[in-house]
Amino acid sequence: MVLVAAVLVCVAVQPPAAGAWGNEGHRMINRLAANSLPAEVPAFLRSEAAANEIEYLGPEPDRWRSPAEPELAAAQAPEHFIDLELADALGPLPRNRLAFEAKVFAAGERPEKIGLQPWEATEVWERLKAAMREYRTLSAAKQNTLPVEQAIIFYAGWLGHYVGDGSQPLHTSIQYNGWVGANPHGYTTGHRIHWQFEGPFVAANLHEAEVRARMTAPKAIGGDLFDGYVAYLRHSATWVEKVYQLEKAGGFEGRGTAESRSFTAERLAAGASMLRDMIYTAWLQSAKPVADPYAGK
Ligand SMILES: [Zn+2]
Repeated sequence: MVLVAAVLVCVAVQPPAAGAWGNEGHRMINRLAANSLPAEVPAFLRSEAAANEIEYLGPEPDRWRSPAEPELAAAQAPEHFIDLELADALGPLPRNRLAFEAKVFAAGERPEKIGLQPWEATEVWERLKAAMREYRTLSAAKQNTLPVEQAIIFYAGWLGHYVGDGSQPLHTSIQYNGWVGANPHGYTTGHRIHWQFEGPFVAANLHEAEVRARMTAPKAIGGDLFDGYVAYLRHSATWVEKVYQLEKAGGFEGRGTAESRSFTAERLAAGASMLRDMIYTAWLQSAKPVADPYAGK
């Protein structure tokens, strides 16, 4: 319940539209991904209009945290994070959301305490891939593709939110917002570090150009997408302690330090690069023929 309390405190002190990376970070991640898609991706998705919409959708799931929509706010809150320490304590991560939830309940725990990040990201990615497959079908049949193009843009933008959250190390750990447990290095235990790092510090100090410069070259994600996504989260998690070290050194006060700015730019770039690669991979995989489940029946 410590984490739930931390989340509630965090939400309570944040501006209404806030969440991982705040508005600015999420918009930047989504725009940079949209603007760096490889040429194989259809032109409509690489257009300025698509980039504008995908950018707008970066913070979209944070707009679902309002007390005006309490059922939605409660159900979707766990989709923004995963406490890998707690999830891993239950054994290997099942790739199916309901299988994971069953495991959590069986252990006497609650999914909203542990988080559902990788399942939500994978499912939204699969929605994107399904829409892209539909686009291919309609294109081949010389039918109007405008409606499915709009769906694809929406799914790509929505996906960007979770991929962005996943590059924020504090979204992968019980160390979500103030150090818990043994604390030999004297890291902050206050409930401020999370939003200080991802919100005001990013908004005041990080710009598109230095983030773009740290993006990787586009590549298709090989192997299983869920496994690849979990590996991405585990890499983020290796930076949890670094965030606390930087905070301790004053890295998120005012202008911060050269190291804290560089670190934050690299994390935003990791989110943008992963989102771009996931959209690209969805496009490539949407070309795969789907076996007819009723064939021969
Ligand atoms: Zn979020």
